[in-house]
Amino acid sequence: MIVDGTPCRARVPRQHTIFGGVFCSGAAMIRTYKYRLYPTRAQARTFDFLLWQGRKIYNGALAMRKEAYEERGESISLYDLRDHWCALRKEEPDTFGLLPYDTVDDLMRRLDKAYKAFFRRVKAGETPGFPRFKGRYHFRSLGYKYGSGCKLIETSDGWAKLRIANCGDIRLRFHRDLPPLSVIKYVLVLRNRRGQWYAALQLEIPDAEPEPSQKPAVGIDVGMVYLLALSDGTTIDNPRWYREGQQKRRVLMRKLDRQRRANNPQNYNADGTPKPGVFIWHKSTRMQETERQLRKLEDRIRQQRWYFWHTVTDWLTSTYGLIAIEDLTLDFMIENKRLAMSAHDAGFATFWQLLEYKCAERGVQLVKVPPAYTSQTCSECGVVDAENRKTQARFRCLSCGHEENADVNAAKNILRLGLKAPVPGARDETQASGSNVSREAQNGDAVATDGSR
Ligand SMILES: [Zn+2]
Repeated sequence: MIVDGTPCRARVPRQHTIFGGVFCSGAAMIRTYKYRLYPTRAQARTFDFLLWQGRKIYNGALAMRKEAYEERGESISLYDLRDHWCALRKEEPDTFGLLPYDTVDDLMRRLDKAYKAFFRRVKAGETPGFPRFKGRYHFRSLGYKYGSGCKLIETSDGWAKLRIANCGDIRLRFHRDLPPLSVIKYVLVLRNRRGQWYAALQLEIPDAEPEPSQKPAVGIDVGMVYLLALSDGTTIDNPRWYREGQQKRRVLMRKLDRQRRANNPQNYNADGTPKPGVFIWHKSTRMQETERQLRKLEDRIRQQRWYFWHTVTDWLTSTYGLIAIEDLTLDFMIENKRLAMSAHDAGFATFWQLLEYKCAERGVQLVKVPPAYTSQTCSECGVVDAENRKTQARFRCLSCGHEENADVNAAKNILRLGLKAPVPGARDETQASGSNVSREAQNGDAVATDGSR
């Protein structure tokens, strides 16, 4: 959670309380602000009941789609499903009827999204899992269209209330003001794995056109040794608590595994391997406590990671006016296993997402550069040679003898490409023409990535 130093005042400007009170003309930016909710016990129970109804609708709709396909080879459209379940809302006002129309609509869209993702991945030649029926612990949120069964109400300093239809007014810690001229479009009410409640408000903010920043330019390399290396020599590495958290997590995982075996000896073969197809698993009170500790730790690691990337991107966008960075795709990162930041780590996606919107907000120019040869090129004389990089950490040019931290050297090349500057002392023909061609390709890519987001 970001702390921006402004005092907590629950000022809810008038336009926020009316759905669609102010409509942004032209392009608008979507941002999500997350607030902690503090329901009473009765409210939590009631919302649990609503979640149960939502889950029944989701699973019911999934069953209908599956059955229609398996028995008749038909596919039911999103709108037919929605009409069916919204008709049931009228017939059963005490169960399904407690959810607003738009919430049911949202559930159908979620299901449709799961199906689309499945087919997209099948098409791409992957082997995805079919959309699943959701269990009690895997269905944790309901979406509300703002103004349709959901409303934010101003109360005293630092607090507000979220009014949810058939649940009541839930206290909300209003730790930061909403941005000016924003309109709440959509609210996601969710309970995390630790049992904490949150409201994620999706806001539409009119596109600001900030003054282009006059600060210096920088190149950033997603490094082999460091997490990030900047062209001015700064390096950013995983903080100490990252490794500590991972270590603690491994210890808890081992403890949990030990307890699982001790609690369920009948489920294991003599050689210690688990028997397949076993359904009955016992959990002792101590094992449940270990599970709780593990959930808490994982949540903490997640929050620390967000805080870290917020701090880094905040610093970058307030220090520099132009940021050149490699246009890394996930495929590239998976192939390139030696990168310090793994593609499977949630870190990179977070960094990218935060950097993009913070640059847009502060008038910082973000230039994406093709990643080819940046780690093999000498930043002094421009010679490209794979032999230049004998070790991961050091770069030594075989042509001019220039020696430097390898990641910083790559960052300098990225900055040069970003500024479209000619290679200093360029003798290599392919490198010079390569940078021009790739500059065009990179412009095309930048448009494509913007469009897909
Ligand atoms: Zn050199």
